[in-house]
Amino acid sequence: MAAYGIGMISGGLDSTLATRLLQEQGVRIKAINFYTGFCITETQRRLGGRQRDGKVPRNEALRMGGDLGVEVELVDLSESGYLDIVANPRYGYGKNANPCIDCRIFMMARAREILEREGADFVYTGEVLGQRPKSQRRDALGLIEKQSGLAGRLLRPLSAKLLPPTIPEIEGKLDREKLLAISGRSRKAQMELAERLGVVDYPQPAGGCCFLTDESFGRKFHDLLDHRELRKIEKDEIVLLATGRHFRLAPKVKLVVGRTEGENVILERYADETRWRLETPDQLGPLALVEGEPDYEQRLLASRIVARYGQGREQAEVVVAWRRGEDEDQLAVAPLAEEQTLDELRV
Ligand code: SF4
Repeated sequence: MAAYGIGMISGGLDSTLATRLLQEQGVRIKAINFYTGFCITETQRRLGGRQRDGKVPRNEALRMGGDLGVEVELVDLSESGYLDIVANPRYGYGKNANPCIDCRIFMMARAREILEREGADFVYTGEVLGQRPKSQRRDALGLIEKQSGLAGRLLRPLSAKLLPPTIPEIEGKLDREKLLAISGRSRKAQMELAERLGVVDYPQPAGGCCFLTDESFGRKFHDLLDHRELRKIEKDEIVLLATGRHFRLAPKVKLVVGRTEGENVILERYADETRWRLETPDQLGPLALVEGEPDYEQRLLASRIVARYGQGREQAEVVVAWRRGEDEDQLAVAPLAEEQTLDELRV
């Protein structure tokens, strides 16, 4: 009977090649694609398109499944304890807010459950040894395999010959000779393989599709958690972190200012009983939110920043309207001109 593999796929080139390689040796495949809540393209899809051009990016995992004739199961991790891992990773963060090792262990533990449910022989990924600085080093790959409970059943077809044989290889269900020994950051071997296997439609490696690896998002993420008593983040806060200019006015007071009309629409959705909603009623300007309980000085400062980003920025005085539930207020302020003050407050 053909071996049965569960593929953790993104639809990018590496997971596509790994899948095609296994198909070449007759492996039966079911693909799974994880949604973490921090996927940039999925967030854009949920919000009705990209901010910059309004286009709705395609789901590459589903596209790949269609191209290769593989069933794809979408698995939502965002409700299942994943956010606790992101806020408190055992193995720490990468360069920004990306806890890649903990994240991979979490995903693979979930893949193991699916393997058991399906009665499959192994789980595979498109990972390449040494391609990413932290999570794809040899020791990290081994750690992730062990901690996820997949020891011996986790195959990386593109780098398999550089790694110990897996159980399906030892049992003869997979032909190790047909697996590869690719390593390192160069994409040359993958490009050649794509040509040989006739893989033509795949997204260009765009430097990640995870908000957690984004520098600006990472700063806002750490700022948020560092100012909380409990290191905890809610699913609904992710889009807000990715939206607008953020200014820390005090340990418990934050201002978020929309940068575009699209962002103003998103911020409007968050203007609830817990956040102040700010706008400049007499001029076109951004929508802004204030979280926390600002004192008078902080209200003045927030108003001056909001006024600065509206069409009244050259005026001596601009009215900024505040509203939270039934509470309303208006402040007439001089738009803030000092770049240095802004830079100091910007998250
Ligand atoms: S980049 Fe890191 S944190 Fe983001 S999904 Fe991938 S492994 Fe997880």
